[in-house]
Amino acid sequence: MTTGSGTTAQTPDMLLPGATLGVLGGGQLGRMFALAARVMGYRVVVLDPDPQCPAGQVADVHLKAPYTDAVALMRMGELCQAVTTEFENVPASSLEMLARRTRVAPAPHIVQLAQDRLHEKVCASKFGCETAPYANVEDAGDLVHAWSQLSAPGLLKTRRMGYDGKGQMRADDLDALVAAHAALGGVPCLFEGLLAIEREFSVVLARNAQGGIAFFPLAENVHRQGILDMSIVPARLPESVAEQARQMARRIAEGLGYVGVLAVEFFLLADGRVVFNEMAPRPHNSGHYTLDACVTDQFEQQVRALCGLPLGDTRLLSPVVMVNLLGDLWAQGPRWEALLKHPGVKLHLYGKVEARPGRKMGHYNCLAPTLEEALALALETRRAMGIG
Ligand code: AMP
Repeated sequence: MTTGSGTTAQTPDMLLPGATLGVLGGGQLGRMFALAARVMGYRVVVLDPDPQCPAGQVADVHLKAPYTDAVALMRMGELCQAVTTEFENVPASSLEMLARRTRVAPAPHIVQLAQDRLHEKVCASKFGCETAPYANVEDAGDLVHAWSQLSAPGLLKTRRMGYDGKGQMRADDLDALVAAHAALGGVPCLFEGLLAIEREFSVVLARNAQGGIAFFPLAENVHRQGILDMSIVPARLPESVAEQARQMARRIAEGLGYVGVLAVEFFLLADGRVVFNEMAPRPHNSGHYTLDACVTDQFEQQVRALCGLPLGDTRLLSPVVMVNLLGDLWAQGPRWEALLKHPGVKLHLYGKVEARPGRKMGHYNCLAPTLEEALALALETRRAMGIG
């Protein structure tokens, strides 16, 4: 679905194939960005200190240096006509340094905003999105007040660096809250009221500098132990819920003047309310289904938004279920034959050298003529692989 000026033709700012694009971070998201860019004829520079990182393996140039290395950033700025990031926890100062030399999208201050759950929630509220009730815990001195504000069981979440369910603990009373805060290292946190969640889903969109917005079909997300396990598309949601979420995501993207791919996670509550959870200023795990099931995938769209190209068609070509492959499976050795014998399964591995429990090693997409069949294929292959 493309709206606004996303379909406008040439603009002076368009970076065409042959240009060099940079990405901060060499994980799987950087790798899939680099692959999409190279398919389209761009050159790619990756900055990541890990010599074996997934994106370094497929880039034209891999700058092996810390994200704060001024010399490497200077080199990146010289080599690249535009730079993006694959994760929100890069230092904003590095993005700002790059922005003085070359095009950077999303803007450094927006990436910085997405590093902190408090700032994200304040931003979401400002643009009219409902959030879970929460209390800010700057330090241990705020715990009594935080408990009295909610007076109900909740989740204590670190404000920064939390991902895949890490950095959060449940607390049912004040004593548990105090213990949880200590266990999380006494860092700034949010104490969030426990919600009656019916469904979790996400909106992935892209916005270009001309203001055009393209939404990918919504993904219904199933988590296990705080980590995304499966995405089901089309999401099994009433259209009114989907439309509310799209409008919320649109208000955030437009309100921030966002350029790039933006993922917004939502909860549908038992009482029908749609609640903002968090956002990511980049492609998202719940958008990996687009690699095989949409006309344009989220990484090509990231390239297009960064380069000022018209946004691609986001049409869904097939029902799809995405299944994450975590490092736990590598303990026995994954049973690839059991997966690859199915013609509707599309496997993506990230080239990570070391498998650890909970580490995202790859994913696969199950495509079938109906969503029921795609789900059945996902469940059958999970069983055969020994997942869950
Ligand atoms: P998050 O890191 O905020 O995405 O949270 C990880 C997972 O914890 C979510 O996918 C939900 O399943 C669950 N969760 C997060 N916040 C809440 C909440 N306020 N109430 C109930 N469950 C939550």
